[in-house]
Amino acid sequence: MISPEQKFKDQVVIVTGSSSGIGKACAIHFAGQGAKVVVNYSSNEEEGKKTVDEIHERGGEAILIQADVSKEEDVLAMFRETVDKFGRLDVLVSNAGLQKDAPFLEMTLQEWQKVIDVNLTGMFLCCRAASRQFLAQVNNEEAPNHSELSIGKIVLMSSVHDIIPWAGHVNYAASKGGIMMFMKSIAQELAPHKIRVNSVSPGAIKTPINKEVWSDPDKYEGLMNLIPYKRIGTPQDVAKAVAWLSSDDSDYVNGETLYIDGGMTLYPEFSDNG
Ligand code: NAP
Repeated sequence: MISPEQKFKDQVVIVTGSSSGIGKACAIHFAGQGAKVVVNYSSNEEEGKKTVDEIHERGGEAILIQADVSKEEDVLAMFRETVDKFGRLDVLVSNAGLQKDAPFLEMTLQEWQKVIDVNLTGMFLCCRAASRQFLAQVNNEEAPNHSELSIGKIVLMSSVHDIIPWAGHVNYAASKGGIMMFMKSIAQELAPHKIRVNSVSPGAIKTPINKEVWSDPDKYEGLMNLIPYKRIGTPQDVAKAVAWLSSDDSDYVNGETLYIDGGMTLYPEFSDNG
C-alpha cells in the first residue's frame, strides 16, 4: 500500500541486494513512500522479479537491474541505466553483502577475498558512483531535487560486527569494521558538498543469511541470550531506520552508525551483574 505520507515522492532510490532479506524490505518500504526504486540482484533473478512484482502490486514504481557490486563495469552500468530510466538519483542504500564462514586457520584466500570484494569494495564502487551522480545533477532543471536540504543521501548496511568481534567469521567482521571507517571518512569528505553518509548496523535479523540459526529452536534460544529485547529483528525494523536516515528528518545526522539490534551491543553478559 502506498503511504499517504509519501516522504520520498519522486525520489530515485537504488537498493543493492534487494532480491532478498533486508534489501527487499528497504525497496518495498521506499516504494511505499512514493520513491522510484531500482531493485538490484546479483544471481537470483527470480527473487529480484518477486521484489519488483510486490512493489507493482502495491501500486509502486520499480525496475530490476542485475549487477555484481564487486565488479566496476556492472556498477557503472547499473548507475547509467538508473539515470537513463529515471533521470536522477537521490538515495543509495548500499546493502548487498554475504558471508563465507570458516575457522580462521582454515579460511581460504578465496573465502577471504570474496567477502571483502562484495561487502567492502562493493560499497566503495557504489558510493563513488552515487556521489559522482549527486554532484553531476546539481542544478539539473529537467530533473529537480526533491529533497529540500541535501543533494544526496547514502546509507551503508554494516552490522553489529563492525564493533563485536566474531570468531569463525573474520572476513565478514573485517569487512564490516572496514565499512565503519570507510563511511566516516567519506562522510567527512562529502559533507561540504551536502551529501550525507551514514550506516545502519543490524543485530540478528530474520533473513535467509542466518536461517540456519533462527530455524533451529536450540540455536534460536541461544541467540536470545545475546538479545536483551528477546526477539529477533525483522527486515522491516531495519528498513524503517534506513528510510529515516535517508529522509530530511535526519538532515543534521552525518557520519553516524545506528545500531538496530534489540540491545545486542549492550554487553548482555553483564545484565545480571557480570
Ligand atoms: P540475504 O537475504 O542473503 O540477501 C543478500 C542480498 O545481497 C541478496 O539480494 C543478494 O542477491 C545480494 N548480493 C549478494 N552478493 C551480491 C553481489 N555481489 N552483488 C549484488 N548483490 C549481491 O541477506 P540479508 O540478511 O538481507 O543481508 C543484507 C545485508 O545486511 C548484508 O550486507 C548483511 O551483511 C547485512 N546484515 C544482515 C544481518 C542479518 O542478521 N540478516 C545482520 C547484520 C547485517 P543475489 O541472491 O541475487 O546474489
